[in-house]
Amino acid sequence: MRCRFCRTRSVEVFLRMYNLPLCRDHFISFFYKRIRETIEKYKMFGLEDKVVVAVSGGKDSLALALALKDLGYSVIGYFLDLGIPEGSAFARETVIRFGEKFSIPVHVEELRSVFGYSLVQISEIMRRPACSFCGTLKRYYMNRFARSIGADVLCTGHTMFDEATVLFSNVLQWKEEYLFRQLPVLPEEQGLTKKAKPLAFITERETAIYCFFKGIDYLDLPCPLSSGAKSRRVKLRLLQLEEDSPGTINRFLKGFYSFKKKINFSSFNKEDIQPCRECGYPTTADRFCSVCRMKRKLSENVSRG
Ligand code: SF4
Ligand code: ZN
Ligand code: ZN
Repeated sequence: MRCRFCRTRSVEVFLRMYNLPLCRDHFISFFYKRIRETIEKYKMFGLEDKVVVAVSGGKDSLALALALKDLGYSVIGYFLDLGIPEGSAFARETVIRFGEKFSIPVHVEELRSVFGYSLVQISEIMRRPACSFCGTLKRYYMNRFARSIGADVLCTGHTMFDEATVLFSNVLQWKEEYLFRQLPVLPEEQGLTKKAKPLAFITERETAIYCFFKGIDYLDLPCPLSSGAKSRRVKLRLLQLEEDSPGTINRFLKGFYSFKKKINFSSFNKEDIQPCRECGYPTTADRFCSVCRMKRKLSENVSRG
């Protein structure tokens, strides 16, 4: 079988979702084309913008950083070392090697240095799973870094099945506010840098193939602190649906975004946001943001012993 585009080279990838046999070069150009289309369709950013990509050491975020660089965008990687034993050190080495190999600047920060505690320490002191703090801290420090360098946009490597898993779970529970906020791009607002997910219509299989073709070494280990069994089960079910009928998840997600354009969400007025009195980060809470409140609780718990 020959590549659908050039009709001369042999096929290395078959994309069932598009019923498309591709050679290596045309897989890469088709991958780039869809990322560029997503960026343009959702007005995520332009070639003149400073783009921060949150890199974790996994295939999706590294693929995103290199794809954006190859597409001509000005990219800076950001890695937050959470201090996870048998996880963070490998991830950190991986992103540093990646940055050197592909000439992409990567800024590394340690949670313990900037916050005072590693994720494991927080989880132990607060006696709650690490995952319940992780997202809040990552968002806070990513945003803080993006603002410190005057970045125009902050990108994450969420892929189609990540997005569909969140959407499906929110629909199952009719979490209306979350549905209201789920979009591939969130505008800048009151101290929060604009956020974008340029891989929203790309699958993890595609990022893995892209990494293989481009020689990107990535970390392929689940986080040792993971407690996301439920979302993994939802994701596996969605993968099964896609397997049975290729293109289903793409249509599910795209259909949701175009449906959203037609509905009047005005009843979901934005909550009252104000700057945290301690650090200035936007918060809907009364005085302090969730990270400053977390810090206070930790020091209270530590001093109580
Ligand atoms: Fe953080 Fe939990 Fe993800 Fe590990 S699995 S990176 S602790 S959210
Ligand atoms: Zn080809
Ligand atoms: Zn604060």
